[in-house]
Amino acid sequence: LFERQSNGNSRIMVFVRLRPMMKKEKEAGSRSCVRIVNRRDVYLTEFASEHDYLRLKRVRGRHFTFDASFPESATQQEVYSTTTSELVEAVLQGRNGSVFCYGATGAGKTYTMLGTVENPGVMVLAIKDLFTKVRQRSCDGNHVVHLSYLEGIVAAGLSQYRAYSTDEVMALLLQGNKNRTTEPTRMNETSSRSHAILQVVVEYRTRDAAMNIVNRVGKLSLIDLAGSERALATDQRTLRSIEGANINRSLLALSSCINALVEGKKHIPYRNSKLTQLLKDSLGGACNTVMIANISPSNLSFGETQNTLHWADRAKEI
Ligand code: ADP
Ligand code: MG
Repeated sequence: LFERQSNGNSRIMVFVRLRPMMKKEKEAGSRSCVRIVNRRDVYLTEFASEHDYLRLKRVRGRHFTFDASFPESATQQEVYSTTTSELVEAVLQGRNGSVFCYGATGAGKTYTMLGTVENPGVMVLAIKDLFTKVRQRSCDGNHVVHLSYLEGIVAAGLSQYRAYSTDEVMALLLQGNKNRTTEPTRMNETSSRSHAILQVVVEYRTRDAAMNIVNRVGKLSLIDLAGSERALATDQRTLRSIEGANINRSLLALSSCINALVEGKKHIPYRNSKLTQLLKDSLGGACNTVMIANISPSNLSFGETQNTLHWADRAKEI
């Protein structure tokens, strides 16, 4: 489907995931304005009014293409395998990687990252995969796995991977998620204004043939970003007024970094927020970065979907 550059200096991989229409949206009479073709192409179409829709008159439309695009039917496992499994392997080789979900509240970020008990998401599948791989390689040397969620250390220890089952990791993540700051919004009562970050550091220690100690450290960051609707205008000109309106600064800081990277600037403003400081070694440069843009199919979210797709389209250029 796509090729990840193997020189360790790869660009951001950008994916789009379309979630199914929700009951609430159907009841509100919404229609689908997004179509995904060939697991790659995204067609966004706006219908000006019910009348135009009935006449199937396309008023405005746009076509985007990404490294892969997931339709409503895509499974959690498919999303994990396509977007993140290679990063887990890279982290075991001592490289850094990060995956973040971007999109409006209700677009499916938390479902993609955390998922449900029945359908665990990328965070859970990545950890499960990581522990399986560490276990398989335990005879080659010593692996130390540190897991941290948000800013609290969840677990750390020497080769303690045996102590974790997927259910335990899921329970820890769900608990952490409950503690996130939430507030009711128009779209989703459980929307979040905070970022949820899971970082896994894998340290690997062994001896080579000459008995020299070999130490490799890789870090995987999995990030469920706050809803992007408050940061719709990522334009520098409007940055100040938006900040004045007390809008999520770290998301804007992330956009500024991405803009600076796209424009090939020397100075990347990583220091502007805690989030970008945390992602400094995970954006651009010698790392593997994956962005999953989450979108709703409903025409009621057309504006947010358009903004998310534009943002994702821009990130492709890094
Ligand atoms: P966000 O975190 O972006 O605010 P959520 O992940 O909470 O959005 O998704 C909103 C709702 O849609 C939730 O009820 C979630 O379970 C559901 N949902 C999202 N994506 C999917 C999907 N791919 N398949 C099934 N349900 C989904
Ligand atoms: Mg969420």
